Amino acid sequence: MTGSLAPIRINGAGPTGSLLAIGLANFGYSVHLFDPLTADQICSRSRAYALTHSSRRLLTRLGFWNELVPFLSPFKTLRLEDRGINRSVNFTELDLHSSNQSTQSVGWILDHRSLMKLLMSRLEISPHIKLHLGETTHQPSKSLDSFGLVIAADGPRSPTRSQFGFPWWSHTYTQGCLTAKVRFCDLNSEYAFECFRPEGPLAILPLGNSDFQVVWSAPLHRCRQLAGLGTSAFLDQLSTILPQGLEPDALLDSPAAFPLEISFAPKLNRKNVVLVGESGHRCHPVGGQGLNLCWRDVDTLLQLMTSASCVRRGLKTVPGVYSRRRYFDLLTVGLATDLLVRLFSNRQSALLFVRRFGLFMLKHSPLFRRVSLQAMSDGPSTLLQSLPE
Ligand SMILES: Cc1cc2nc3c(=O)[nH]c(=O)nc-3n(C[C@H](O)[C@H](O)[C@H](O)COP(=O)(O)OP(=O)(O)OC[C@H]3O[C@@H](n4cnc5c(N)ncnc54)[C@H](O)[C@@H]3O)c2cc1C
Repeated sequence: MTGSLAPIRINGAGPTGSLLAIGLANFGYSVHLFDPLTADQICSRSRAYALTHSSRRLLTRLGFWNELVPFLSPFKTLRLEDRGINRSVNFTELDLHSSNQSTQSVGWILDHRSLMKLLMSRLEISPHIKLHLGETTHQPSKSLDSFGLVIAADGPRSPTRSQFGFPWWSHTYTQGCLTAKVRFCDLNSEYAFECFRPEGPLAILPLGNSDFQVVWSAPLHRCRQLAGLGTSAFLDQLSTILPQGLEPDALLDSPAAFPLEISFAPKLNRKNVVLVGESGHRCHPVGGQGLNLCWRDVDTLLQLMTSASCVRRGLKTVPGVYSRRRYFDLLTVGLATDLLVRLFSNRQSALLFVRRFGLFMLKHSPLFRRVSLQAMSDGPSTLLQSLPE
């Protein structure tokens, strides 16, 4: 259907660029995918993603979901704790929107390596995709005109974004984040935890069996100091902040500390270049929204590039419409994560009252829980429209 269109260039073969390349190739686009890293280097990152229902829908449409199922760790309960006021609430499958309930899961945890290996295997066999992995990727701006669209999926430090002079707004948090894979004693793997602590949120995400990904937010210097500890000292420190009844048994990888920021490109398009995934936005990992937001960019771009109007009129209008369509979701999720971090890392009495009221409503109102879970899981913009079954 799109054979007569100029090829598409995607810079960045991370989870965003790779999934987009496969989606476009499925619809007959010819795609050139560039990354300075080799396939092995791209797959080797030690990280786990919390997937929400918006990602499940996209992966199902692209024919990936069933293949990923053996690598997914579903969780049926998300336990939210506010340590400052000693209140907690459970989100369960009963709080899901009716169109999500048949999955019987609040969300899923997926290891980066399993995901990327599957994506790489699909990229390698697609006749419509030309892979340029492990190659120097800089291109003079003029030579990019030969592509119908240039898609920057080259991550938060996006060289493409800098090359084309996109405006970029960024705020670095004093909080950083430490990630580690930990085995726990006798912990039910159907539970995920998000604990709000005065020094920052702590997420404990099931990876299957008794293994969990810990995402620990705290002042960056403390994260770096924790990452430098020996195994038993690290596990000792971890055990002092865990929810009641959780006991760490073994450390499964080397803890790593990262700075955290909220960043945003006010406009995601310029000429025939669009920003997709973390090249266009970044938010605090609280709530595990990051990759799901990136994949909602992918979903919107795929819908536009395969629409009847794009087939009729070509790609010209796609960049502007894409930028406008993504604005609301990106802004509301970015602001919500920022507000959550500020609200729960604070001990002002007026804010403690707001937290008590919020937790009370969540605990006692099924409607409040359902709406909150849908905003987290499918995106705030879906609250104003019906979800596909
Ligand atoms: C500590 C931490 C925990 C997180 N936890 C979660 C979570 O639980 N759930 C979740 O959904 N998200 C999470 N995230 C966010 C998630 O990691 C990102 O959303 C995701 O990696 C973004 O994917 P991406 O493909 O847009 O960018 P990246 O994964 O950064 O990929 C960018 C790619 O572009 C390539 N590149 C760089 N320069 C060039 C160039 N000049 N030309 C071509 N290619 C280039 C890079 O080599 C890389 O392969 C977390 C992030 C952090 C830091």
